[in-house]
Amino acid sequence: MDARYDRPETDAFTRTYWDAAAAGRLLLRRCASCARTHHYPREFCPHCWSESVAWEPASGRATLYTWSVVHRNDLPPFKDRTPYVAAVVDLAEGPRMMTEIVDCPHGELRAGADLVAVFADGVPKFRPVGWVGRLE
Ligand SMILES: [Zn+2]
Repeated sequence: MDARYDRPETDAFTRTYWDAAAAGRLLLRRCASCARTHHYPREFCPHCWSESVAWEPASGRATLYTWSVVHRNDLPPFKDRTPYVAAVVDLAEGPRMMTEIVDCPHGELRAGADLVAVFADGVPKFRPVGWVGRLE
C-alpha cells in the first residue's frame, strides 16, 4: 500500500475515534473529574491530569478560528487536492481542532463562520453552514 499522510496509523486507543469517523460521527473525550472536553483524544485529561476520561459524541458544530489556503504539498494524497484549506476550528464543545474546510469558495471564508462537520473518506472535515449545493 502506498504511504498516505492524511491520517495517522490507528492503535488500540485511537481506533474508537477513527471507527466513529468512518461511520460519520465525531467523538470527543470528556473528563469525569473536571467535566471539560478535549481534542485531540488523549488517555488523560490535559486540564486536570485525571485518567477518568471517556468518549462522547460531538455535536459536529464549530466556528472558524483561522485558516490557510495550501497551494503546495507534495505528500500523497495532498498533492492531488491542492489548493485546499487547512484550518483551526473551535468546536461547539470548546476544544480547538486542526481540520480542513471544504465546499466553500476560498474567498468566502470568514473568521467566526458557523461550520458543520462532514466526513470524507473517513476523515472529519468542516464546511460552512448554508453552502450545501451552492457551488457550481
Ligand atoms: Zn479534567
